[in-house]
Amino acid sequence: MNLISDEALQPFDLILFGATGDLSVRSLLPAFYFRLREGSFPDDGQVIGAARSDYTDESFRAWVDEAVRPYIPDDQFEPEMWQRFLARIQYLPLDVTTQDDYDELGRRLAGREEHARVFYLSVAPSLFGAITDGVHAAGLITANSRVALEKPLGRDEATAEEINDRLAKVFEERQIFRIDHYLGKETVQNLLALRFGNSFFEPLWRSELIDDVQITIAEDLGVDGRGAFYDQTGALRDMVQNHLLQLLVIIAMEPPVNISADAVRDEKIKVLRALKPLTGVNAIKNSVRGQYTAGAYDSGPVPGYRDNDDIPDDSTTETFVALRAEIGSWRWSGVPFFLRTGKRLPGKHTEIIVNFKKVPHEIFPTADGFATPNQLVIRLQPEESIRMRIYVKAWGDDIQLQPVNLNLDFNDVFRKRRMIAYERLLLDIVRGNQTLFMRRDEVAAAWHWIDPIRQAWEQYEYAPVPYEAGSWGPADARALISRDGLKWNEQ
Ligand code: NAP
Repeated sequence: MNLISDEALQPFDLILFGATGDLSVRSLLPAFYFRLREGSFPDDGQVIGAARSDYTDESFRAWVDEAVRPYIPDDQFEPEMWQRFLARIQYLPLDVTTQDDYDELGRRLAGREEHARVFYLSVAPSLFGAITDGVHAAGLITANSRVALEKPLGRDEATAEEINDRLAKVFEERQIFRIDHYLGKETVQNLLALRFGNSFFEPLWRSELIDDVQITIAEDLGVDGRGAFYDQTGALRDMVQNHLLQLLVIIAMEPPVNISADAVRDEKIKVLRALKPLTGVNAIKNSVRGQYTAGAYDSGPVPGYRDNDDIPDDSTTETFVALRAEIGSWRWSGVPFFLRTGKRLPGKHTEIIVNFKKVPHEIFPTADGFATPNQLVIRLQPEESIRMRIYVKAWGDDIQLQPVNLNLDFNDVFRKRRMIAYERLLLDIVRGNQTLFMRRDEVAAAWHWIDPIRQAWEQYEYAPVPYEAGSWGPADARALISRDGLKWNEQ
């Protein structure tokens, strides 16, 4: 398995259910264009968009030309490539709940049974079952088929299992690709490379030398336009169960025996299972829930969560979560993992900070009294970068240490375009490589850890604490981390 392979794909048919939706427009269709431009889209590869909207192939292409074009940066737009990309797209008006509509899909796919066939479900999870049943009943699932599903997979362990049971009736596990697009990011894969491709990190990667780990996914956006979905979901289900836990797992997993999908996922699931349960009062003590109120950014004022038209005035859905987690294992015993995510925070900002312990005995004077020990900062947004903070002697007469950053700037090293996460994932789906996708037991284990936190919130009637839009969340989140004598990175 090659994580960075760029070779052309085998011929494929990708049926994009939900082709007119937000995710298709902003991420999936641009990813296809980039792949075509980079030469890894075979001549006999095609995308069949499917949704209820009434388009023909021609009118859909015209719509894509208008709707998707703004998501291609000007310096990557090549008119000739763009026309070739449009020519590879077809459209099929189809209601996924109407069985007859699958017959026309069958006609389009006839004679192409040898090709890789991908059913990509970019629709609400409530439609997943209708689609898998529909393609099965129409006899469209070949041995070389796969199905790709977007998160969130279910609302809790029980509903995730229901979806998985339904999937398992018509697809084998090797054909199922559960997406967490954070795993498609170059920097996340680089974290694996950094940890398991270099010898010097491994001896440091343990509780004797690591003090704490902080993982933040901050968004400055509110719930604009997605209020109805979000109010039923909340930050714990929308972000913690998937993205935050996946990042934690990549940081904490043991070295896999090789880079095959099952070897990697066998190690990932051990971390999920080793997470100490947060239940009852313990969950309340180690979690913070928040909900944003009106506030202001440089660009102007913004309304509060409950001020949105599609949010009930008395909503108790959280838009912010902070958690203190621990992993019960030799490697991580006693190391707190702080997880934090929220909407309407100061900026779009995703980072993992690994804080190392202070030197055991200080012999040098420092400008900051060793207040900022060695730190590895893995940033995923707004830019992707990895930097290591070390102490060096400042130039001058006296010996005084100061922290500086060793920057691993991949733009300088590679001088080629960085793939967007969905390009990597689409390539792997067509190739049938599941390393960067969640296995069924991983999804269940993640919900198994998350569900008791939500139950404790309900049991103890823990309503979200208000925080002002544009701030770093409720003061309680600062109190949570300061119990360990620590602070969040809030730059
Ligand atoms: P969306 O904008 O609401 O799009 C939904 C799509 O489903 C539309 O193309 C809609 O088209 C189609 N659709 C709805 N009912 C249908 C039916 N009965 N038959 C056929 N097509 C139907 O949703 P989205 O934001 O793109 O999200 C899609 C999936 O990705 C969801 O599972 C979401 O949770 C997940 N996701 C989204 C994002 C994101 O950034 N948007 C990020 C991560 C995960 P018609 O109305 O034309 O039928």
